[in-house]
Amino acid sequence: MKKIIVAVLSLFLVACQQNQTVKNEKIKVVSTTSIIGDIVKSIAQDKVEQHILIDVGLDPHGYEAKTKDIEKINAADVVLYTGLNLEAKMSNVFEKISTKNKKVIAVTESIKDSPQLIKVQEDGQEVVDPHYWFDIDLFQKSVDSVYKVLVENDSKNKEFYSTNYKKYTQELAELKKESQEKMKLIPSTSRYLITPHDAFQYFARANGIEVKALQGVSTESEISTKEVLSLIDFIYNNKVKAIFVESTTPHKNIETVRESLKVKGFEVKIGEELYSDSLSDEKGNADTYIKMYKHNVNAIVEALK
Ligand SMILES: [Zn+2]
Repeated sequence: MKKIIVAVLSLFLVACQQNQTVKNEKIKVVSTTSIIGDIVKSIAQDKVEQHILIDVGLDPHGYEAKTKDIEKINAADVVLYTGLNLEAKMSNVFEKISTKNKKVIAVTESIKDSPQLIKVQEDGQEVVDPHYWFDIDLFQKSVDSVYKVLVENDSKNKEFYSTNYKKYTQELAELKKESQEKMKLIPSTSRYLITPHDAFQYFARANGIEVKALQGVSTESEISTKEVLSLIDFIYNNKVKAIFVESTTPHKNIETVRESLKVKGFEVKIGEELYSDSLSDEKGNADTYIKMYKHNVNAIVEALK
């Protein structure tokens, strides 16, 4: 009898210990972009072990999953990607896994049919503009989704996540108000935002500025000579003060536009580098979504006011 009690007790102890390990273990989250990565960081901080697939400064439109990425995806508890065809060359990977396993989630799932999404014609087809994060209200919806996923997969930290989520939501509301106020400093005659690829339509809609780009919403789209020439004419005719480069695309196309305008006798300056599809690294001044948004607003206002 004594032996049985000891055996039962030790089994109970082992079970308790195992339970303890499971309880203390951090869930593994894989995020494709630094922007999703920052949502996770804002809500979960150090409660999860996070890996970001696409390094800062790299272009998500053309990024292809490498063997080491697939290994990380397979080992993760949760995989978060943008969707809306942003990670175009990885969509097959995600769609294939997500049908088998619910752990792969597009953070835009709840807004994929929203009338607030912008549709554009690109290379003869209608496509959704994936840069939804520049509309802070839509971005908030993806924050809601990430929060939900974290709580579902890691309920032991629910309260911690809830506190951070509420705080972050508040900060985003402030960011929206502050950005719209600041953008009003640009006079009506110079409210034109010229960028390399068409990543700022949502930003333009939210902040009342007209946007034109050298290339379509995907960096994989064609750059037509006709459109480049018409953009040059547009800048010339509207005496646009500044044009912009971005951190994830080559600067040379915008520099060529500036040179062509110089030949026509018009000097346009190149504004500070904008962050569109990636945050900066930790040394930069745009290593969080909020800092990235503020940096872009400041750069645009400074150059165009
Ligand atoms: Zn883009």
